[in-house]
Formats: sequence, structure tokens, C-alpha cells
Amino acid sequence: MVSRSPAKGGARAPDEPVSPEPSHARRPREARTDDSDDFEPDSAPATPRFGRDGAPEPAQYSVEFEEGRIDPDAAKVVKRLTRGGYEAYLVGGAVRDLLIGRSPKDFDVATSARPDDVRRLFRNSRIIGRRFRLVHVLFGGGKVIETATFRRPPEHEDARESEDLLIRNDNVFGDAHQDAYRRDFTINGLFYDLEHNLVLDWVGGMADIERRAVHTIGVPVVRFQEDPVRILRAIKFAAQLDLGITPEVYDAIVQCRGALRKAARPRLFEEVLRLLRSGASRRAFWLAWETGVLDVLLPELSTYLADLPEDDNSVWRILQEVDRTTLERKSPLDDTVLWAMLLLEPMREACAGEKDRVEAAYAFLEPIVDRLNVPRRIADAVRRIVALMPRVEAGRTGRFAKTNLYPALRDVVELRAAALGEREPMESGELSAAGTSAADAKPARKRRRRRKPRVDGV
Ligand code: ATP
Ligand code: MG
Repeated sequence: MVSRSPAKGGARAPDEPVSPEPSHARRPREARTDDSDDFEPDSAPATPRFGRDGAPEPAQYSVEFEEGRIDPDAAKVVKRLTRGGYEAYLVGGAVRDLLIGRSPKDFDVATSARPDDVRRLFRNSRIIGRRFRLVHVLFGGGKVIETATFRRPPEHEDARESEDLLIRNDNVFGDAHQDAYRRDFTINGLFYDLEHNLVLDWVGGMADIERRAVHTIGVPVVRFQEDPVRILRAIKFAAQLDLGITPEVYDAIVQCRGALRKAARPRLFEEVLRLLRSGASRRAFWLAWETGVLDVLLPELSTYLADLPEDDNSVWRILQEVDRTTLERKSPLDDTVLWAMLLLEPMREACAGEKDRVEAAYAFLEPIVDRLNVPRRIADAVRRIVALMPRVEAGRTGRFAKTNLYPALRDVVELRAAALGEREPMESGELSAAGTSAADAKPARKRRRRRKPRVDGV
């Protein structure tokens, strides 16, 4: 059984009564739509819907989002399920983003209806997934509303021993409150009841939204050992949403980082890519470096950083330029460009003075490809980009201008030039329009000493 921290603001055990406190009840400014400044957690609606059979009652907060912030198709899905006699809520990232004033990327629904029931209610739907079946309800323009049946948390102590076991056990249908407890962070464990305009909070998520903190549902070390990828998710949410990480969670990241070696490699690749795409990659990799996570994921980069002179901020300036461009374009850069930018400086160092730069780049990248399951397509392109960069930087673009690789190569050269201010941006590239030079860039933060892990648990 996953143990849960009874601490204030943390998660509560399923059998522990939830007593909403006024301090939890302040609505974040962005989410406010009426004139009142504060509000108390609401008393339960006329018909008590929770707390039957000893199930825990959630704290309930009345929150009405502005017109247009909730996807009308997601609302349609919830309403049809509710009319069909099922419980259905908006859940996860969408509720979190609405509450902190961001536009959700997508809207997920959780429901008491089983996949076949959902499928019956929506002709425009399909069941996906083998282990855990969920339903994609399809709308125009390729929009998908992911609709999942409530699941319960894994119950076995051994769940943390093996990824496989965890996934199998993560697969059992449950109730709404169990579905809240199985989620990773309190800010991701809030449910929104569209019928009553209520946020249902079993996990202390509202308090953490309010204090802008990333905190696990339950004991951080347990939750990270159950699924080490959550470490990277904590870093992503902290960086992207500009939240703090609670000291307990921070220490658990330091302690459990070694468990990342046991995580499924394709998931690691995906999560690192998400950090790069986040528009906050500098903060994310800084956090990863500071916590020692980078030593596990990319020791090539962390040793390069450790050996740099105190005033050399090139890696951080490059990531800052990646973030600036991502935010400006409102879409992530190409995956190959992102990986090249991340590894550029240590790779250039590895290739410097080598006769066969392609070979040197290959030798550098191979262990990374292996560790993080980097697709061959990306690794090959990164290797060639780094090998060819000096020619392009010297203006000898020649025949490369016509190759498929050239747009990525040009982006990398321009981004690096803009970040480090080493040369004028190239004439033809779209990035030159951005007009950023190192002079415009905010001064990079001074290097800080990395925090020593108290215990290396794994
Ligand atoms: P994003 O905006 O980056 O998509 P998200 O919170 O929606 O953020 P998803 O990866 O789409 O993240 O996951 C949806 C929800 O599923 C999360 O909000 C969380 O509640 C739950 N979840 C995702 N991954 C995990 C995990 N590894 N462990 C437990 N719960 C998870
Ligand atoms: Mg999501």
C-alpha cells in the first residue's frame, strides 16, 4: 500500500477525514471570475455525493472559469456521461492549468463509466490501450478528449520493485477518490465537477496551487521509487509552471535519482524531450544539474559543466535561447535541433582537434543513445550537424544547403550564434529575424554549488 503523508497540505489517507481549512480556500487570482476576494470551501451540494461507505470526502471549492476557457467538446463529454448516470470530471493537467491561469494543452476526463459504456455513449470514439483501456472521443480538427475510467493506486509493496509489476497493478478500476490518490503530484490530482462548478480536492492540491509548490501525493521517496520518471515530471512542472519544489520532494529527488537508471528508456527519452520543448529548458536542466539528476541521465553534460570555468555560462545561454525561440514561435523547435542544442558544447569539445569529427561525435553520442533510447534518426542528424558546423560557421555552406539536414543545421548554427553572440546571424535564416544577441539576454545565473545528496538511496 502506498503510504500517504498526513501532513497539512499533503495527501490524506483514504480513510482520513478531510476537513477543509479556510487557508486552503483562497482562489488563485487568475481563476477568479466573480467579485469576491476569498471564499470558503463549499459545503457539500444538497445530495451528499461523497463520503458514502466510509469513502473520504473531498474538500470542495466553488470555482467558475471564464467563458471559453473550458473546451466545449470536453464539457460535452462530461455532460453526456453525467446525464448517462455516471460520475465524470475534468482531471489532471487541464484543471491545474485552468487554476494557475494557463491555457490547458488538452482536456482529460475521468469517469465511473467503463470503457465499453463510454464507447456506447459516443459514436465518435475508440477504445485504445491494451493494459489499461481508455477511450478517445474524437472531434473535428483531430481533437481528442481522453476519457479514462477511475483507477485505484497500486496496492502491493512490491510495486516499486519492478516497472512491469507496477503497470499491471496500476490497472484496476476504482472510485474517484482512488483515482485522485494514484496520481503523481497534488497539483495534478484535482477534479473539476462541471455540473456544480466545484473543484474536488482529495489530495491537498488547492493548497499547493495556492502556494505554488510541486508536492507528491503521498511520501515522495515512495512515489519516486514506484515510478522514477516522476522525478523528471517534478522538474518539468517546477520549471515550466514556475513553481517551487517542496524541501521534502527536493530531498527525495536527490535521494532517488539513481532509480532513473531502472526506468523504461523510451519514457526517459520522452521526458527529456519534454523538458527541452517546455520553453523552460534552462530552468529544468539547471534543476536537473543541481539535484544530481543530470549525473544519472547525461553524465557527459554534467562533467562538462563541472569542469567549466566559473564564468562560462555558454550551456545555460544556449538553453535560454532555445526557450526564447520556443516561446516566440509558440511551438517547440525540431527534436533534432533540441538535442543538438543540449549536447552542443560538450560535443564540440569532444570533436575539437579530431581529424574525423563524425567519428568523434559518434563515440560521444553512442552511450547517450543507449542510455536514453535516442532514436537513430535523431542521433545521426545530431552527429552530422556537429561535424559540419565549422564549415557552415565559416560560410562554406556549399552543397549542404540542398540537403535535408540543412534547415536543422542552420537553426543550430544560428541559435548558438545568437546565444553566445559569437557571430552575426546568418542572412537567410528565419531565426535572424529574432534579433537576439547575447547582449539582450538576461545575465545567466552564476553557477551554484550542487546540493550534496544526503543519502543515495538507490
Ligand atoms: P501536461 O500539461 O504536460 O500534459 P499533464 O499533467 O496533463 O501535464 P500528462 O502526462 O498528460 O500530464 O498526464 C495526465 C495526468 O495523469 C497527470 O496530470 C497526472 O494526474 C497523471 N499522471 C501522469 N503521469 C503520471 C505518473 N507517472 N504517475 C502518476 N500519475 C501520472
Ligand atoms: Mg496532459
